[in-house]
Amino acid sequence: MKKQRHIVKKVEEGSIAEEMNIEVGDEILKINDTEIEDIFDYEYLCQDDYIEVLVKKPDGEEWVLEIDKDMAEPLGLEFENGLMDDYRSCYNHCIFCFIDQNPKGMRDAMYFKDDDSRLSFLQGNYITLTHLSDHDIDRMIKYRLEPINISFQTMNPELRCKMLGNRFAGEALKKVDRFYEAGITMNGQIVLCKGINDGKELEDTLEKLYKYYPVLESVSVVPVGLSKFRDGLYPLEPFTKEDALDVIRIIEKYQKRAIKEGPYHFVHASDEWYIKAGLDMPAEETYDGYLQYENGVGMVRCFENEIRDAIKDKKKSPYNKGEVSVAVGLLDKDHMTMMCKEIEEAFPGVKINVYGIRNDFYGEMITVTGLLTGGDIMAQLKDKSIGKTLLLSENMVRISDDIFLDDVTVAEVSNALHVPVTIVKSSGMDFLEKVLNA
Ligand code: SF4
Repeated sequence: MKKQRHIVKKVEEGSIAEEMNIEVGDEILKINDTEIEDIFDYEYLCQDDYIEVLVKKPDGEEWVLEIDKDMAEPLGLEFENGLMDDYRSCYNHCIFCFIDQNPKGMRDAMYFKDDDSRLSFLQGNYITLTHLSDHDIDRMIKYRLEPINISFQTMNPELRCKMLGNRFAGEALKKVDRFYEAGITMNGQIVLCKGINDGKELEDTLEKLYKYYPVLESVSVVPVGLSKFRDGLYPLEPFTKEDALDVIRIIEKYQKRAIKEGPYHFVHASDEWYIKAGLDMPAEETYDGYLQYENGVGMVRCFENEIRDAIKDKKKSPYNKGEVSVAVGLLDKDHMTMMCKEIEEAFPGVKINVYGIRNDFYGEMITVTGLLTGGDIMAQLKDKSIGKTLLLSENMVRISDDIFLDDVTVAEVSNALHVPVTIVKSSGMDFLEKVLNA
């Protein structure tokens, strides 16, 4: 196996590494006489109050540094390769994969399919387990790397092979037993495909997953996203309102059982199901501290509560009157309109236009805010009244360079619409402050 070199890219100011004269371009060879395979090893080996670090300087000289520190204190190093190893791409050909539904000509990163357990731990990515070796599992258990996030899709091994397009995908489910026996906390995700893993299959899957509860803390059920670029892909249909009601019925049945028998509600329908079904969002306590927030579970309820708290907080503060606008996906338009009305009532003189943007880039079946593009926003708002600023969610842009999925920049949108664009964090307080300070 090709061994990665661990070259220092950045040394944090005031860190132990700086104190020990570790510099950009140095190579970390070993810690406590142990070679470092990847970021898992590095993080684990650094968790000690005394460590010996073998460093190779660019001129070939090797230093052994003896470091006394607080147990959890990091060295303060960043490496050229964040994982300290090659990124592992996936072995699957999932029938619902959204990456396969990207149009041609996007930036390369949009086509990278990762299935890397290191990213599950570091960034919360979901993995299918098809890529996970026994050696990886041993290390994850030894280092107590938790929670681990798993894309289950189904607990029917044969169906899982079909859905993931991988003949080992059914067998891979046995790896869950090892995490369960070791008490490693897990979270799960099920991408639901109509007529494939819904209905009776979903009930069977939840019944089997329930055996891992509460070590398996939560499972989210999200509807498959279908873009207009599905030529040659497995035929999948969108869910209807009746389907959504059925999914919620199944999920709420398991929630009632789980909360009687343990600390969590165990399984959660993403917000999209409730919006599609025309039902109110569940109460905040149902979300168990928003364990599945990143999967679109509880975002609406959380945002509403945050806005109401923020209104109370800011009620007596001075603010700027006038008109601003916010653009969201069609899915989010109604609840955003409702929240903006509450803000307008609480702060007389403030006017907020809420624009629901149709997703022409991916097709009309994609209605979430996070997949809107700069091109669609410019085209659909060009003749609209915007006011002092256009507020857009940070989920639409890559934070580092303010670029939308279609490579249009925030500055281009701002120039085209002749207004400043304000990027808003996923927080009710940030939204309200940016409305009131505009
Ligand atoms: S695991 Fe499946 S859905 Fe995820 S990237 Fe690979 S093919 Fe796509």
